[in-house]
Amino acid sequence: MKNPQETKMNFFENDMNFKRFIEVSFPVKEVSEESSREKNIRHGHISTLHIWWARRPLASSRATAYAALIPAPENNLEWDTKRQNIENLAKWENSLNRTIIEKARKDILEANGGKPLKVLDPFSGGGSIPLECLRLGLETYANDYNPVAVLILKCTLEYPQKFGKPGEIEIETESFGKKVKEKTKVQNVLLEDVKKWGNWILEEAKKEIGKFYPPDKDGSIPVGYIWARTIPCQNPSCGAEIPLMRQFWLAKKDNKKVALKPYVKDKKVEFEIVGQNKPFPKDFDPEKGTVRRAIATCLVCGSTVDDKTVRKLFQEGKAGQRMIAVVLHHGRTGASPVKGKTYRLATEKDLEIFKEAEKYLEEKREKLMDEWGIDPVPDESMNTDDPTTVAGRGYGFKVWGDLFNSRQKLALITFVEKIRQAYRILNEMIDTENSGTKTDSGSTGFQPVKEFRIYKRNLPHWEQPGGIYFITFRTANGFTLSAEAKNIVFDSIKFHNNKKYELYACVIMPDHVHLILQPLEKTKNAFYSIAEIMHSIKSYSANQINIQLGRKGSVWLDESFDRILRDDNELLEKMNYIVNNPVKGGLVEKIEDYKWVYVMGWVNDEVEPQAMMPAQAMMPAQARMPVAPINKIKKEYAKAVVSYLGFIPSRMADTNSTLCHWDGTWEKISTTFARQALPMNWDYIETNVFSDKGYSYSNILENNILNVLSHLTQIPPVEVEE
Ligand SMILES: [Zn+2]
Repeated sequence: MKNPQETKMNFFENDMNFKRFIEVSFPVKEVSEESSREKNIRHGHISTLHIWWARRPLASSRATAYAALIPAPENNLEWDTKRQNIENLAKWENSLNRTIIEKARKDILEANGGKPLKVLDPFSGGGSIPLECLRLGLETYANDYNPVAVLILKCTLEYPQKFGKPGEIEIETESFGKKVKEKTKVQNVLLEDVKKWGNWILEEAKKEIGKFYPPDKDGSIPVGYIWARTIPCQNPSCGAEIPLMRQFWLAKKDNKKVALKPYVKDKKVEFEIVGQNKPFPKDFDPEKGTVRRAIATCLVCGSTVDDKTVRKLFQEGKAGQRMIAVVLHHGRTGASPVKGKTYRLATEKDLEIFKEAEKYLEEKREKLMDEWGIDPVPDESMNTDDPTTVAGRGYGFKVWGDLFNSRQKLALITFVEKIRQAYRILNEMIDTENSGTKTDSGSTGFQPVKEFRIYKRNLPHWEQPGGIYFITFRTANGFTLSAEAKNIVFDSIKFHNNKKYELYACVIMPDHVHLILQPLEKTKNAFYSIAEIMHSIKSYSANQINIQLGRKGSVWLDESFDRILRDDNELLEKMNYIVNNPVKGGLVEKIEDYKWVYVMGWVNDEVEPQAMMPAQAMMPAQARMPVAPINKIKKEYAKAVVSYLGFIPSRMADTNSTLCHWDGTWEKISTTFARQALPMNWDYIETNVFSDKGYSYSNILENNILNVLSHLTQIPPVEVEE
């Protein structure tokens, strides 16, 4: 390496133009082995966060980047040591080893004259190269024109570095049977918030659609439901339903052999499970299914249906499906738990529940279509000319939504809806917090309404105990309040005014309510609690709404957000926030046109001027400032949290479609993208998204999201030059 002082050449000559290690030598064999071994590593590896077909191995990315940034060896000893270092650095086990990583960072810095290097990967795809550059301490820039890649990159590189730090989060704990919200210090806010909201989404989804995945009476829990697509036998004297199955294995292990054995009863194909409670018949070969190369065999009459006819039946909508069996875990025999998976035949009850889910899907799909303005079930066309996907094989698959059965669609759109809801709530919490008078927070960017006046004499006595609260609560499951429902809510809020609290302001929005109120004394020195007040409002209005609208189910989410207001300024600001909410939400152009808003003392222009004071004049200066940076950062943080959660439905598209099949060799689900094609699949397994095995939501959250995020946030921070 040249001494930087030696010449006065250009920048590259000075610092960069030295022979690199990689130009002389590289432990190709060893790093290749590490790269190939990495394919089997699941825990914390970014490949589990989101599929990217051409993602480079981390081992080779890390090793080549390092070898390209350190100088060539000057002697044999150095040659040997550096090769050894590269081999060590490439190992997955060392990817978070502080000593090894810090040394590599130091080597690179020293080799380049102490100047921190910048690296740009203009087509970074799955993010391996920029991730490893970041790990090596380089100021890294990544880019791609595929938006999926961009999202992966943000979640891999940017958010963990920016937000994966110690801090405080609000958690709900129970003390003496009461739920209390507390700020708790945590090592990694981003990780904790993703976990918290990930679990919130799970609970909300469970409340709504958990009933469509019931456990068995004996306590065993379905892992999944095995289905067979069906066609009618074309023999005119038969016409039996042919369940299309490649083979009949359920478990095909050395020490465990279980299979579905078909038999014919009353001209219908039925099944029994052999190898579990019944012995496995010697003459039965489960390898031989009812369909091969799209040629189907009827087990009732023995005739075959050729591939062309099979395709035609699918295209004409004459194919159906039949639930054959259920895969279970947590089974028991008597008092003792059964290890591993067990199997049972599907029952009428199983099908009935599926049909209820199917019915509910139609309802929910309509509702979300109205709300979102698009079909929540993907209706984009598949390429029917491409034979590498099932759409190009002539089975009548046309749009992406065709790859899922009804309950799978329901699960997907419900999780997506909850994620969107979490994002809305997070944003609202930021708005609520930031419209305060704290100097570090910005305004919500609302436009104060000119007509808004308030009586000075109506302002509260702050010395009074009890406090004034700003409260927000939301509807459950995205339930939209009709005009009639809004009237009920409005009335029940006004009903308790001057009885349990003094109402300062409220607004009833289509899916949430804001309130400002001050609890009144219940008995001497004791005030009505917020919990009590919220219960009065929520339970009464929910009952009335359900009665009058003839509906069932919950109206409100259990939780509400409340905060104590500190002074006149904050109170006025919150009142302004409330009064502007319908206009901001695009519901009306002028607030006068909105029926479900109440502000104490607000009488438009009907009151003598001297009796009132303009709200705007009392607002602190910073409330009129444009959106402050802190607000922007918080909004970005909310986006980061839901971006990780957004990967869950994406993962579910892989793990819960009708292209997934049950693999008896491992007793595991083989996923949609197990191969780089989407071939036709005759028999498939539908996942129970609420179990705790396999590809359930909770396992995806834990294994695919939190473990990866935890790894990424442990990469030491990289200083960025200002
Ligand atoms: Zn037949």
